[in-house]
Amino acid sequence: MLTVDAALAKVLEQSEVLSSAEVPALDALGLVLAERITSDVDSPPHDKSIVDGYALRSADFESGVREFEVLEEITAGQVPTRNISPGQSTRIMTGAPIPHGADAVVMIERASLTERDGHPARVLLDVDRLSPGQNIMRQASSMQRCEAILAPGVALRSIELGMLAEVGRTSVRVTPRPLVAVLATGDELVTVASVPAAGQIRNSNGPMLIGSARQAGGSPVDLGLCGDQNDVLTERIRQGLESNVLLLSGGVSAGVLDLVPGVLQSLGVQQIFHKVNLKPGKPLWFGVRVRDGRKSLVFGLPGNPVSSLVCFELFVRPAIRRLAGHTILSLRRVRARLASPFQQRGDRPTYFPSQLDQRAGKHFVTPLAWKGSGDLRTLLAANALALFPAGEHSFPAGHEVDALLLPPAS
Ligand code: AMP
Ligand code: MG
Repeated sequence: MLTVDAALAKVLEQSEVLSSAEVPALDALGLVLAERITSDVDSPPHDKSIVDGYALRSADFESGVREFEVLEEITAGQVPTRNISPGQSTRIMTGAPIPHGADAVVMIERASLTERDGHPARVLLDVDRLSPGQNIMRQASSMQRCEAILAPGVALRSIELGMLAEVGRTSVRVTPRPLVAVLATGDELVTVASVPAAGQIRNSNGPMLIGSARQAGGSPVDLGLCGDQNDVLTERIRQGLESNVLLLSGGVSAGVLDLVPGVLQSLGVQQIFHKVNLKPGKPLWFGVRVRDGRKSLVFGLPGNPVSSLVCFELFVRPAIRRLAGHTILSLRRVRARLASPFQQRGDRPTYFPSQLDQRAGKHFVTPLAWKGSGDLRTLLAANALALFPAGEHSFPAGHEVDALLLPPAS
């Protein structure tokens, strides 16, 4: 059976970055940039005042002048009309351009103004020192016109959206979100809005996987649920193959109604692997179909909710992120100490739902009282998966293990 690492390598071998597309910049949050961005402006566009105050010549101050004539008042958005000569100043507001001749600004709080006919006339300074350039932000000191500011591959945060706006970009070329179709299979499933009758359960994997797909950077397509019949399965899976990624839950184990692998093969999906050496999640099926130059990645996830979730986080998340152009693909992995002794028995490497916390800069992990792959409820308290090797082990408190951090809500 394939190891987790070998299976992930096979998944990533099949996962190629999608072709780029132009999107409105406001819709680009979280997407990966697919072009180089250069600035079409200097920032700031002029020498500007960073305080409300008086622009004047520092040489005047140096030679002992403390009282200045006030020529005019300019606010942000206006431009100066008067040059500053010895003994003169301009009342200036934050962001306004420095008038020609001035080389420093004194804060308004350190100056007292006398007015004549309702207009600023003279100002008396109450400062001990004034150096050239004080309270002035120089033109282009933040960014120069024609300077490259963002490179392809950058994942766009709100900071990048702000910079795109500063350089005049209303649209931007990015790698789009992969379409991720989600179809839950199983005769026992009823919709979330239904009350399950005897033998039935609600389809919890569908909403969970839709959430996971969105969190990983995909655009989910909800295909609902489908019973274990070859003809309906074939129809719905055909529909799912229109997407870049198709996630199926259930029907890939060894039961009599585990029809998914057969249906996939009949639709021309080439199996890459079936079964991986891990717990939970061993029945995972992975394959690809290329049609008309378009590739679909197909994951047959085990029906048990925790198996589905673990397979998603280990194999599907990295695939979606690769398609979306990201370079960080997998969950963050840390070394953590067991907070208390732990007995672990399993015939496969186990990703154990756990609580991870930090004390004095160190990670500690507490495996939860988890009842197996059907027990999603216990995972409400989980924020990590602790990795234990196959075999029967008694681990003492303080023993170090790898832990994968489950993604937080936001
Ligand atoms: P399967 O992989 O189809 O053999 O299903 C394994 C277990 O997962 C069974 O107990 C199913 O009832 C359960 N299961 C399958 N699909 C879902 C689903 N969509 N939501 C919740 N549980 C499911
Ligand atoms: Mg089933």
